[in-house]
Amino acid sequence: MFPNAMNLFLAGIVLPQIHPMEIHAIRKKIEEYRSEGKRLFTTSSFQTHSIPMLHILSEIDNSIPVYFINTGYLFPETVSFRDEVADRLKLKIVDLKPNTPKYMQRESNGKLLFTTDPDHCCYLNKTQPMESVLASHDVWINGVRGDQSAVRKAMKVEQPAPFDSIRFHPMLDWDNRKIFAYIKEHDLPKHALDAQGYISIGCEPCTRKMDLDMQEREARWFGLNKVECGLHTDLVK
Ligand code: SF4
Repeated sequence: MFPNAMNLFLAGIVLPQIHPMEIHAIRKKIEEYRSEGKRLFTTSSFQTHSIPMLHILSEIDNSIPVYFINTGYLFPETVSFRDEVADRLKLKIVDLKPNTPKYMQRESNGKLLFTTDPDHCCYLNKTQPMESVLASHDVWINGVRGDQSAVRKAMKVEQPAPFDSIRFHPMLDWDNRKIFAYIKEHDLPKHALDAQGYISIGCEPCTRKMDLDMQEREARWFGLNKVECGLHTDLVK
């Protein structure tokens, strides 16, 4: 089996404890939003490390809609994992598709946009569909973590977002070790591609397997000087 991060962490390293107060603080914040009449939603890319937040939310309020940004370029294993997790945690999944059909996402030479202009491809397939979701809700519960990239490290737990909405980042201070400790403690399912050496899994054309000397986000848009798709740079204030 590929020595991915989870296997390394689980191979004898003492995993951190998750203090019940941390979960209690998330519950309290969600109850506070609810009491203010705010409309909540979350999103998930359905990777292994996405599952702790979904598990926590499912125990607090599994009526919160979980938007799944289905770009049309995802690995089939991700779509299967979404179904498995949704079934296990009894989640309310909403499939979010791009507004622009793929035949209109081509350069004049016929090439699909991800080959030449990944920023615009990410905008059409990820950011633009999210804009209407954000406009119709008040709070986006988002599982970004500070240890994933410099952009995310600079974020705040609660942060203003476009359309007068708020982003709530309950996992911001969690790190990989804590995520895997939670997965182990609750015996949560794992994405099928983990065992093949993938650690950050997005669209198939823009994801590669992890080398041991790579940072998590370097497994995406390899060689393109791009580590974010726009969801955490354009849809934030
Ligand atoms: S990750 Fe790649 S394929 Fe997916 S939307 Fe962005 S550029 Fe397009």
